[in-house]
Amino acid sequence: MKIMKFGGSSVANGERIKNVAGIIQDEMKKGHVGVVLSAMKGVTNLLISASEKAEKGNKGFLKDLEEIESKHEEAVGYLFSADSGKSIKEKIKNQLHELRDVLHGVELIKECSKRSMDFIMSFGEKLSCQIMAAYLNSQKIESQFIDSSKVVRTDNTHGNASVNFEVSYSNIQEIFKSMKGIAVITGFIASTEDGITTTLGRNGSDYTAAIYGAGLNSEIIEIWTDVDGVLSSDPRVVKSAFVVPEISYEEAMELSYFGAEVIHPYTMIPAVDKNIPIVIKNTLNPSAPGTVIAKDVKRHNNVITGIACIDDVAIVNIEGGGMMGIPGMASRILDEIAKASINIIMISQASSEHSICLVMKQSEALKAKEVLESKLKDEIRHKMIHQISLRTDHIIIAVIGENMRGTPGISGKLFSSLGENEINIYAIAQGSSERNISVVALKKDKEKALTSLHKAFLE
Ligand code: ADP
Ligand code: ASP
Ligand code: MG
Repeated sequence: MKIMKFGGSSVANGERIKNVAGIIQDEMKKGHVGVVLSAMKGVTNLLISASEKAEKGNKGFLKDLEEIESKHEEAVGYLFSADSGKSIKEKIKNQLHELRDVLHGVELIKECSKRSMDFIMSFGEKLSCQIMAAYLNSQKIESQFIDSSKVVRTDNTHGNASVNFEVSYSNIQEIFKSMKGIAVITGFIASTEDGITTTLGRNGSDYTAAIYGAGLNSEIIEIWTDVDGVLSSDPRVVKSAFVVPEISYEEAMELSYFGAEVIHPYTMIPAVDKNIPIVIKNTLNPSAPGTVIAKDVKRHNNVITGIACIDDVAIVNIEGGGMMGIPGMASRILDEIAKASINIIMISQASSEHSICLVMKQSEALKAKEVLESKLKDEIRHKMIHQISLRTDHIIIAVIGENMRGTPGISGKLFSSLGENEINIYAIAQGSSERNISVVALKKDKEKALTSLHKAFLE
C-alpha cells in the first residue's frame, strides 16, 4: 500500500488534475494506492480572504467567491464532456451555492469564528477531491471520494487541531476494509468527536497523508509537489539550491519547522512512529528520484544539510537587572505567553544583558508585549524589569544538518559569513541536539543572508 499526496499546485487546474490522474494510473499498476489531495492552488487563501471580507461587511468577498467558482467550473469544463460531466457539475454547483450561503451568513452576522473558518476552508479540499474522484471514474478507474472530516478525529482547537491517533487509525482501517477502487481523500480537514469540522493547520494535507499512511501501515508515503524534492534552501530565493537525495526525519522536521514549506513539520510524526519512509516527488517531473526522508539515510559529506528561513517574525525583549538570579522569571514569562495562546519560535537569554528575548510571529508580537506589560506590571513598577521592547520585520535563519553534531567551527563560519556581508544578527540559539543553529536578522537582508550562507556552506 502506498499513500500519494498531491499538493495545491499539482491540482491547480484541469490540465494538472489530468496529469495527476495519469501518475495515479501508472502507480496503480505497481500496487494498491490511496490518494490525498489539497485544495486547488490558491483556493484556501481565497476562502480565508472571502471570510475575512464578509466578516467586515466588505462586498469584496463576492469577487473572491467568483474566483473560487470559476477555478472549479473551468477545471470541470476542461475534464468532462457536457454529457459525462452532468452529475459532477451539479454537485459542484450545489456546494458552491452552499458556500455562497455560508459567506452571506458571515456577512449578515459580521462574525467569523475559527470554527466557522474551518468549515469554510473545508470546501477547498472537498471540491478538489470530488472532481478528481469523478474524473478517475470517467476514465474507468474506479474511485471513491473520502471526506476526512468523517474519518480523522481531533480536539476542538480550530485552525490547528490535535489529532487523536487511536480513533483516527481505527476509523481509517474501518473505511479501507470495504474500499472499492482508489480512495480520493481530502487532506487538511478533520472533525471533533461531535462531528464539527476542524483543520490541521496551513499546509496540513501532508500531515493527513502521513496519518492515513500510518493508519494503514503503508510501505511508503509520497508527497507530490512542484519541485524535485527537498532542496538545500528555498529555490525561490537561492537560485543555486540543489536537491538533497536523502535526509533523516529529524532534519526534515527541523527544516520544515524553520520554514521549508515543501513538507509540513507534523508529517514526520506518524511516519517516525511506524517507521514509514516519506518520498518527496515532482508532479511536473515524475521520473526525478526525489528526496527520501527516513530513519537511516546515506549521509552526504557537507557539514550542513540545508538552510531554512521563517519570514515575518518579531522580537519581544524583556530587559531588567532585577531578573538576574531570580528563579522562575523565565518560566513566568513563558507561562503568560502560553496562556495567551501565543507560540514562541525561539528563545535566547543573556545573563550579562539581564534580558530574555522571545521570537514569535509578527502578527502575535504586539499582543505578547501587551500581555507581558500587564501581567508583569508589579515587576515593572519595582524596576525589576526595566523595559519590554518590540522589534519588528525580522526573519529567523536556521542552518540544519545531522553532520553538525560534534563538528566544531560551524557557528564561527556562520557568523563570519554573515559579518562579511554586513548582516547584523539580533539573537542566536542553538538546540542541544546540535542539529540546528538559528539566528535572527533583518527581513531586508533575507536574500543576501541565505545566498551567502549557501555559498559558504554548500557550494
Ligand atoms: P504543495 O502545493 O505541493 O503543498 P508547497 O507550496 O506547500 O507545495 O511547497 C512546495 C514549495 O516549497 C516549493 O515550490 C518551494 O518553492 C518551497 N520551498 C521552500 N523551501 C524549500 C526547500 N528547502 N525545498 C524545497 N522546496 C522548498
Ligand atoms: N489547502 C490547505 C492550505 O492551503 C492545506 C494544504 O494545502 O496542505 O493550507
Ligand atoms: Mg504544501
